[in-house]
Amino acid sequence: MDLGFALNRLAVATAKALSADVVAVLLPNKAEDRLTVVAAYGIDVEEAEKLLATLPPPIDDAHPPPLPGYASGVCVRLRSGELPFGLLCAYSRHPRQFTPDHVEVLRALADLGTALLQAFEETSTLTQIDAAKSRFIHIATHELRSPITTAQSLVRTVLKGYAGSLSKQQEEIISRIARRLDFLETLVNDLLDFAASKAPELEEAASPVTLNASVGRAALLLQPQAEEKGVNLIVHPCREELAVWATEDSLDRIFTNLISNAVKYTPTGGEVTVSLGRAGEQGWVKVTDTGIGIPEEALPHLFEEFYRAPNARQFAVGTGLGLVIVKELVERYGGRIEVESQEGKGTTFTVTFPLWHPED
Ligand code: ADP
Repeated sequence: MDLGFALNRLAVATAKALSADVVAVLLPNKAEDRLTVVAAYGIDVEEAEKLLATLPPPIDDAHPPPLPGYASGVCVRLRSGELPFGLLCAYSRHPRQFTPDHVEVLRALADLGTALLQAFEETSTLTQIDAAKSRFIHIATHELRSPITTAQSLVRTVLKGYAGSLSKQQEEIISRIARRLDFLETLVNDLLDFAASKAPELEEAASPVTLNASVGRAALLLQPQAEEKGVNLIVHPCREELAVWATEDSLDRIFTNLISNAVKYTPTGGEVTVSLGRAGEQGWVKVTDTGIGIPEEALPHLFEEFYRAPNARQFAVGTGLGLVIVKELVERYGGRIEVESQEGKGTTFTVTFPLWHPED
């Protein structure tokens, strides 16, 4: 529900409760130097604004100057702690329509209006804080990325012996630094993706994009990692183009995350299979692996921030953010994510999206 709708309901309720012909809700404008009509009953907002402009500025008053064409009126303050106050005004064609009882009812309705304004004010502040937090993480992680990349390349140069030969002990220590830097890189990348997934305004606009292309790009990107690990990564392509309404960037992040998890949690000699297809009006992508699997008791927690199953902690490094990002992005574009797994046997993640048609 938006605030305009809620204030209109307040105007209607006030008119009914007081048998008023016209009700106006007035709030301070942006500059807070005058009141403007934001909702009305029995009259257009613009017309109410015009008529009120012909009168002295309304104040909390049991007998304010009536609107031209109306014989009586009453205005009460929309009381508030921190908010600048507004007014709830009722007018009638009949003289002396409003009794002290009516004024009491109007004050009670105005208190409800105040509570409504405060609730909306709090929600919008929270949304602004969330957006500001996301932007902060976005900038901070960007700034962190480049020194990490530099450090990684310097450490690799030393490890390869380009800066002179290393003793066994030096090599061991520097290898540990390299592994910590790799983890730091994953963490920073996940945080950046996490921030972006929470701030849709940082994303490009959605358009029709194909699951086929995105799955192909993600598999290509992860092929070297799979080969290096001795994991067989197979893609079963789909001849039909499966177009969905999303952004390329989001789809790429979804499939890169799922395939990279499958490779990461599958031991050497195992297999990762990616397939895609159509089921009625839905396009689906399945990422199946023959890896460590997920314990049953961990399944309900998989999409919680920073959650990692105990067997995964022992097996590989990670942040526990990847699946949170994936779920957020899948749901943003009307999709669904499901998981089936057996500990020690393997896991299948299935992502389903509504297919896009040119006539949509
Ligand atoms: P992480 O950085 O730990 O991989 P994710 O959010 O991507 O974080 O995944 C959360 C948890 O889900 C993992 O820590 C792991 O316990 C489990 N998980 C995800 N994908 C797989 C998979 N393919 N096989 C086994 N466990 C998985």
